[in-house]
Amino acid sequence: MASEEARHEYWRQKCEAHPDIANARPNQGHRILAKWEQNGLIQALITQNIDGLHQLAGSQNVLELHGTARAIACQDCGARFDAEPMVREFLETKRVPSCPNCRAGRLKHATISFGQALPREVLASAMDLRPAL
Ligand SMILES: [Zn+2]
Repeated sequence: MASEEARHEYWRQKCEAHPDIANARPNQGHRILAKWEQNGLIQALITQNIDGLHQLAGSQNVLELHGTARAIACQDCGARFDAEPMVREFLETKRVPSCPNCRAGRLKHATISFGQALPREVLASAMDLRPAL
């Protein structure tokens, strides 16, 4: 995060890979899990997936332990933004965007990188779930 060059390379790689996630569509497994939630068979999904496909399939209560690649998060003020416009901006300008909220904040995808802790509130929600008896 401290290196401007490393952050630029991060953005270059993430934006290059972004269409893989943006164009992915839910499969039968995602749709079945959404139906199970709608029918009350499961309370929630706890996932390490970062692709947002469970939500696209219709699941409502998705706990993303590793975050999501469909959002950008400011590492300084915590604001979150839809990834699409910022990816598009980087691809057009080749400049790493700054946080629109705090103006100078460092942005990265809202995924959990090596060395980052799991999001406390998501982990707490996952721990609060109880198996159906
Ligand atoms: Zn910010």
